[in-house]
Amino acid sequence: MTTAAAREAVVVGGGLAGTAAALALADAGVRVTLLEGRPRLGGLAFSFQRGGLTVDNGQHVYLRCCTAYRWFLDRVDGAALAPVQDRLDVPVLDAGRGRLGRLRRNALPVPLHLGPSLARYPHLSLAEKAAVGRAALALRRLDPADPALDRQDFGSWLRRHGQSPRAVAALWDLVGVATLNAVADDASLALAAKVFRTGLLSDAGAADIGWAHVPLGELHHTRALTSLDKAGVRTVLRARVRGVTPGGEGARWQVETGDETLTADTVVLAVPPAETHELLPGGALDEPEKLTRIGTAPIINIHVLYDRKVVRRPFFTALDGPVQWVFDRTEASGLDHGQYLALSQSTAQAEIDTPVADLRARYLPELERLLPAARTARVEDFFVTRERTATFAAVPGVGALRPGPATRLPGLHLAGAWTATGWPATMEGAVRSGLNAASDALGALGRPRPAPVFDEAA
Ligand SMILES: Cc1cc2nc3c(=O)[nH]c(=O)nc-3n(C[C@H](O)[C@H](O)[C@H](O)COP(=O)(O)OP(=O)(O)OC[C@H]3O[C@@H](n4cnc5c(N)ncnc54)[C@H](O)[C@@H]3O)c2cc1C
Repeated sequence: MTTAAAREAVVVGGGLAGTAAALALADAGVRVTLLEGRPRLGGLAFSFQRGGLTVDNGQHVYLRCCTAYRWFLDRVDGAALAPVQDRLDVPVLDAGRGRLGRLRRNALPVPLHLGPSLARYPHLSLAEKAAVGRAALALRRLDPADPALDRQDFGSWLRRHGQSPRAVAALWDLVGVATLNAVADDASLALAAKVFRTGLLSDAGAADIGWAHVPLGELHHTRALTSLDKAGVRTVLRARVRGVTPGGEGARWQVETGDETLTADTVVLAVPPAETHELLPGGALDEPEKLTRIGTAPIINIHVLYDRKVVRRPFFTALDGPVQWVFDRTEASGLDHGQYLALSQSTAQAEIDTPVADLRARYLPELERLLPAARTARVEDFFVTRERTATFAAVPGVGALRPGPATRLPGLHLAGAWTATGWPATMEGAVRSGLNAASDALGALGRPRPAPVFDEAA
């Protein structure tokens, strides 16, 4: 018989899902070892050094409704470093017409909170705005958990609800591409409904945007590591797990890295679907091959350093050209002069392999078209970060492929943004999945499940 003191958990993967699971298990009194193959925590959301700069692999934002990620920020003592704007305010620049619009909320309740801003939005006609309002109300009535929605694509639904190509480009895709990493025609209606309902149609402040004002690595690696240490978690970096097997004396599981074999009562696998498929012991899932059918989608970030300030706003988004979302990373990166802009380019299938010189030739003139001050500024550096497997592909049908935290094997649990959280591939989904797996594991260990730290209805 195993005593309470012998309860040991191994968490495999130190992305946000694994880190959250490790913290939650340790907070519940379980002895935890966290194994991460890379030399750092943070998984897909990390920073690296380039000359004197600290660069994020990709701009990350979250919303006020991301209650699990906000729990994580609090838990690693980092909330003040990644504040949420007081009220949603997104500048939208139309490159072709040279017009600036704003998507802003006021203090009124849903759906009136966006009404005046939509009424003034210059990028849509009156008829398009009226149709957007009607579609938003129809979207509000959808249930994102309905499996029938997962089989449909968002683009067809928008067309059926009277949305013009312009309304899709200037509004629905503006938000959808950044949050789903898919254009409406390629996106699951269930995931789109989740994003728009939770973000824009649930609570007035739900879509207020937050982002790290420090390098991501400060939150997801440095502070996370300190919090794990304080919670008593043994974190081992550069520890790539090669095998997870049931059995072993007095313990249910054996976990092998190149350097050691650990025994544990509980294992949480918090690695991407392909790695999960490789490590999963036989019999763990009814249809493990489903994991191999979960596709991926790329994001690239284009980093431009100017010798002077070319834009006043902390971020903006653009229409009618290739530029999507642009963030000022000057202070966060440690740059002491000029301005550093990061262009976050989702759905980057067409550009994931494009040479840097070609991207430079495409994007610098675009930035000059959008930002008059860029026309006379000198570009001091231009580089590109590419994440081929940035997110799981949010395509119709993906919901049926995503497993929950439980497996058929006692003591083995799954986490990762790609598991069945109801959310698209986000930091919120990752942390939720980690907390779900920890809760599942604690229940199986006969420990009380912790009170939910995130809004389960959201
Ligand atoms: C460029 C980019 C931009 C993004 N923008 C946003 C955004 O704005 N907002 C947002 O919410 N989300 C965004 N995302 C998505 C978000 O980063 C991810 O959904 C989230 O970080 C996934 O976390 P995870 O823990 O589920 O998985 P991962 O981050 O993939 O973590 C898995 C970890 O497991 C480790 N691992 C794998 N195999 C093994 C093994 N055998 N042994 C040990 N360790 C192993 C890996 O090294 C990795 O650290 C973005 C992603 C990218 C790449």
